[in-house]
Amino acid sequence: MYNIAVIYGDGIGSEIIKEAVNVLEKVSVTFDIKFNFNYFIAGGEAIDKVGVPLPDDTIIGCKNSDAVLLGSVGGPAWDNVPSAKRPERAILGLRKELGLFSNIRPIKLFNELESACPIKTRITNGAIDFVIIRELTGGIYFGKKERLQKDGIAYAYDIEEYNEIEIARAMELGFATARLRNKHVTLVDKANVLETSKLWREVANKVHEDYKDIELDFLYVDNATMQIILNPNSFDVIVTSNIFGDIISDEASVLCGSIGLAPSASLGETSLGLYEPIHGSAPDIAGKNIANPIGSILSVAMMLEYSLKEYDAAKSIEIAVKNVIKDGLRTKDIAKDSTDHLVSTTEMANAIINYIKK
Ligand code: NAD
Repeated sequence: MYNIAVIYGDGIGSEIIKEAVNVLEKVSVTFDIKFNFNYFIAGGEAIDKVGVPLPDDTIIGCKNSDAVLLGSVGGPAWDNVPSAKRPERAILGLRKELGLFSNIRPIKLFNELESACPIKTRITNGAIDFVIIRELTGGIYFGKKERLQKDGIAYAYDIEEYNEIEIARAMELGFATARLRNKHVTLVDKANVLETSKLWREVANKVHEDYKDIELDFLYVDNATMQIILNPNSFDVIVTSNIFGDIISDEASVLCGSIGLAPSASLGETSLGLYEPIHGSAPDIAGKNIANPIGSILSVAMMLEYSLKEYDAAKSIEIAVKNVIKDGLRTKDIAKDSTDHLVSTTEMANAIINYIKK
């Protein structure tokens, strides 16, 4: 029996996460795996109900689970609350509280969705498949920050700081991931300018001693942003710092055709992981039953793979998603051709559920 903490979040969160839970219910019947779903609140919903974005009950409930499934938080209703109470604080808080120091984002373009990819076929060759591993709990987002006045002039600073332990565990995950793929890791940094990046390179080279079967190369982040567009198939596994990962993973996600398709996993020392689609709460389409549920559904496939080690069940979800795409089913965000069969959130999820088999 696996305990799964479920947090809908705001906007489209409840629509897509309900469908992801339905997929797990089908997995339960098909593969004889028992799930116990416990529901918690976070983000804007929690601010409205209990006055804070991340209640203690939610933290404790998540810590006592085998995995956490999260929709997305935030929206215009909470744009003007003080920054310490913003819905997005819930995400940073959960990562810190659960010790989730790495984020894994697969970037995958299915052949059938080529027309939804913004770059040319001569570049993609019909498919893209690489993984970005982003360090999640260090660097400039967590370093000391301050505003001050000097001689009547306003100053601000944010400090980027890393230690070798934080870098080594991100690199270990990168090499281990590459070993199961095409055995190639690219460290994206800014080592021509930043001391932290120089330390990343030194530690990467040291960790590489234990992974000599994996090719390791280095790319400055400015060049990496170009190569992701010009030559996406030159990558297998990218490992990078918190801020660079934040930026390049959003850039890369659009190659898949829509932000609504992309899943993610956040992992730490233990098997407990947090799984969420990479998109936000999409307030512009909330409540319309048109959001793409595939990012959330592929997130539960990652949950089955990384936290629960239920590999066959994970594979069956990926195959089911491929099948519905092959069948031409498209939510509004990925409908580009006249032959596409436009479906709602619920219809897309039900079609995927129908394809889940042993
Ligand atoms: P967003 O990802 O919510 O939306 C960007 C665009 O993508 C919108 O046009 C939206 O309709 C579309 N989109 C997103 N998910 C989709 C899906 N599943 N299917 C179809 N279309 C989809 O980004 P935003 O508009 O910048 O942010 C909205 C809110 O979400 C903000 O409050 C932001 O802070 C928050 N946010 C939360 C998270 C998170 O919880 N992890 C991440 C990013 C943004």
